[in-house]
Amino acid sequence: MLRRLNAKQLASLCDDSKERMPLAEREEWLGGRLAKQVNYAYRHAPAVKKIFDDAGVSPRHIRKIKDLERLPVTTKDQLVKLQQANPPFGGFLSVPLNSLGRIYVSPGPIYDAWGEERIKCAVRGFVRMGLPKPGDVVMVSTAYHMVPAGLFMTDALDVLGCTVVPAGIGQTEMQVKMLHDLKATAICSFPSFTMSILKKAEEMGYDVRKDFNLKYTTGGGERHIQVLRKVFEEQYGLVVADGYATADVGSVAWDCGLGQGYHYGDAECVIEIVDPHTGKQVKPLEEGEIVVTLFSNVYPLIRFGTGDLASYTDEPCSCGRTAPRVTKILGMIGEHIRVKGMFVHMKELDEAFSKLPEVLKYQMVLKLDGHKDQITLNAETEPGVDRKVLSQAINQRTQEVFKLRMDTIEFLPKGKLPQEYKKVLDTRWA
Ligand SMILES: [Zn+2]
Repeated sequence: MLRRLNAKQLASLCDDSKERMPLAEREEWLGGRLAKQVNYAYRHAPAVKKIFDDAGVSPRHIRKIKDLERLPVTTKDQLVKLQQANPPFGGFLSVPLNSLGRIYVSPGPIYDAWGEERIKCAVRGFVRMGLPKPGDVVMVSTAYHMVPAGLFMTDALDVLGCTVVPAGIGQTEMQVKMLHDLKATAICSFPSFTMSILKKAEEMGYDVRKDFNLKYTTGGGERHIQVLRKVFEEQYGLVVADGYATADVGSVAWDCGLGQGYHYGDAECVIEIVDPHTGKQVKPLEEGEIVVTLFSNVYPLIRFGTGDLASYTDEPCSCGRTAPRVTKILGMIGEHIRVKGMFVHMKELDEAFSKLPEVLKYQMVLKLDGHKDQITLNAETEPGVDRKVLSQAINQRTQEVFKLRMDTIEFLPKGKLPQEYKKVLDTRWA
C-alpha cells in the first residue's frame, strides 16, 4: 500500500488550479479525461465492453459528460447480479486480482476492489479539507470487519502521517477512556456514533472541551449530519470534516469547510445526478440519483448508480472552487436502506428471516431517537413462542447477515400486520 507522503507530495496530490477553472473549461477538461477513461475501460473490463455493445455505443461517442446519457446506469442491484453471475467482480476488474491492495465485501453482497487510487482519493479529501493534519492522533471508530470504512480511513491517515487508534465500533466507555488517555485530536466515525461517545463521556463526568484534546470529527454516511454538525460545532467546539463516500466508489465528493454541500471530486470521477427512471441528467436543485463514473485503471465502473438520492448546485462556492456540489443526501432509492451507517439490501432482510420460521411476518420500523437511529422489529408469531429465545435468535441472525441488532422487538399475534404492509417503515425523516 501507499507509504507516508511528505508535505510537498501531499500538496501535489491536489491540483488546486484545476478546481478553480471556469465551468466551461472544467467541462472540457473533464470531457477529455472521460474520453480516455471510457476507452481504457472498454478495452480492459469485459463488463464495460458489454454495456457499450448492448447499447450500440462506441467509446468514441463519449466526449463530454452529457454523452454519458447514451449509456445505461448500472444499479447496485445489477452489480450484485453481475458479480453473482461472474464472480467476484462481474467483469469490471481490469487488473489481476492479486494486484489489489484490498478487497472488501459490502452488504448486497458486493465485492469492492480497492487499489491505491481509492486511498489517494481519500487522502485528497483530507488534504482538501485541511484536516486531520500530519501529527494528529486519530481515533477511527468505525467498522473494520469486511466493509471498507475503518481500514480505508486508516490507510489514508497513514499516508497523511497521522497516528491511528483503530478503535472500531462498540465499547463506548472504553472509547471514551482511549480518547482521554491518548489525547486524541480527531475521531473518524459516523456522526451518530461520535455523538454517542461524547454523550457517554459526559455521563462519565468529563467536560469534552476541557478534559479532551479533541479538535475534529468527521461526517458522512448519515443524513442528519446537518443537525449534528451544529451540535459538534457549537456545543463541543469541534471542526467537522465532511464528505460523501460509498463502499463501491470510495470518497468522491467533499465539503470545503463552508458546509455548503460536497464538491464533486473531479480528480477521481465524473458525478452525474440523474432521473432514476430515465437515466437523464437532472437540472440543478432537482432530485435524482448520484451516479459515478470512476477515473480508474483498476475497477472502472461506468455510470454506477449509488442508490443515493440527492440534488446539486453549480452556483459558484465562496471558497472559489467551480466543481458543482451535491447539496444534500435526500435518501435512498430502490431496495436498500441506510441505517446506523450500514447499507442493507431488502434481500438481506428476507434472507435473515427466512431462517427464522417462528417469525411469520416481520416489519422493521426505523425511528430517530435524538441523533441515533433506532430499529424496532414488529414480529408476528404463533401464540406460545418463547420470546426470550426467539429474540436472541433474531439478533444473532440479523447480526450475521447484515451486521445490525434490533433495539426493540415487539411480538405481535398472527394477523396483526395488515395485508398490505411495508417491510421497512422509515419514519426518520417524516
Ligand atoms: Zn466550496
